[in-house]
Order: sequence, then structure tokens, then C-alpha cells
Amino acid sequence: MGPEEDLVKVFQEISQCKNCALYHSRKYAVPGEGPTQAAIMFVGEGPGFHENEQGRPFVGAAGKFLDDLLAMVKMKRAEVYITNVVKCRPPGNRDPQPDELTSCSGYLERQIRIINPEIIITLGRYSLAHFLPRSKISDVHGQAINIKGRLMIAMYHPAAALHQQSLRTTIEQDFLRIPEIIAHASRISPEAETELKDKGEPKQLSLF
Ligand code: URA
Repeated sequence: MGPEEDLVKVFQEISQCKNCALYHSRKYAVPGEGPTQAAIMFVGEGPGFHENEQGRPFVGAAGKFLDDLLAMVKMKRAEVYITNVVKCRPPGNRDPQPDELTSCSGYLERQIRIINPEIIITLGRYSLAHFLPRSKISDVHGQAINIKGRLMIAMYHPAAALHQQSLRTTIEQDFLRIPEIIAHASRISPEAETELKDKGEPKQLSLF
């Protein structure tokens, strides 16, 4: 099977998934969307009201803001892959619970393996926690971090930034660094992944 078929299989499994209780209240699961060959993957938290209605990620107010952020760095939504750590809507947009995150994490890992993006950009703390469970977003946002040879950049969640001016400025500044980080990405080597003694998590890279 090629990557397209592999991705379709993951989609089908997500659409029928009953691994946690979120399937009871979903209208549509939201597996993600974008090109199979995307070099950049955005990982949000989980579907909200509009995403649950349409089965597509980031189509509400946060999605509109994400489009604006992408436009700031001359990127189009159609060029990137967009998904979430949790594929079904937590009722009332509550935070995803630990068992829901655990049940869903295998799907994200399979999507990453199939798409094999050069850069993963996490949106919000639950997405960051999937990759770096002990890191705080306020410490690592906007930094290039090497995770097993793949570049990760943590961003605040667009929905949070939409309503808080200081976070909005921060996420805009962090997005504006993406092109520079991409330009330097070829300098990253697997050896650069150094464990932080105190946290046991990969070290932030000083790229420039
Ligand atoms: N917020 C998210 O984290 N994901 C979406 O798909 C929409 C809003």
C-alpha cells in the first residue's frame, strides 16, 4: 500500500472509532486534511462545534485566524497538513481528558509516519504535550526543537490567542519566525538532539 491508501485506512478507522466515549456525541470525526506529501503538519487540540458539524479541522473562528497566520508567512492551507491530537469533539469544547488523548494518540502517530513531514507545528498545550509532556508552552513557544530528527515548533493555540492580545502578538511573532526556521532546517542533524538533564526532553536548538 502507498501513503494515500495508508492515510485512507487511518481515516476510515478514525471515522468508525469507538476507543473512547467521544464517539457518542460526535456528528463527524475530524481526521485531518492536506496533501499526503505535506512538508509541514499543524497539530491542534481537537474539533470544536464547526469542525464536528463539517468533519474538517479548523473551520471556525480559530481556523480563520490560522488562515490569517498562514497568509502572514505566505503559506496556503492547501499546502500544509492540518490535524488534531483528539479527532472527535469534546462536548462543550471542554479540554480533552487523559483517556481520550491516550486513545487517540496512535492515530496521530500513524499520520506522522505516513506523511513524514519535515516540520511539525503544535498548536496549544495538549498538542505540545503529545510530543513533550513535561514542557511548558510558555517556555518553548516559537523555538525550533529537534524531536527524533524531526523539527518541531510549539505555538500557542489560535483560539486562545484570538481573545488575548498579548498571546496574539506572541503567536504572530512566532509565526513570523517560521520561514527563518525552515531556511535553517537543513542544518539540523540527529546528533543535535541532546537530552535535557533535568527534564529528560529534547533540547531546544540554537539555530541562529
Ligand atoms: N481548535 C482545534 O484545536 N482544532 C480544530 O480543529 C479547531 C479548533
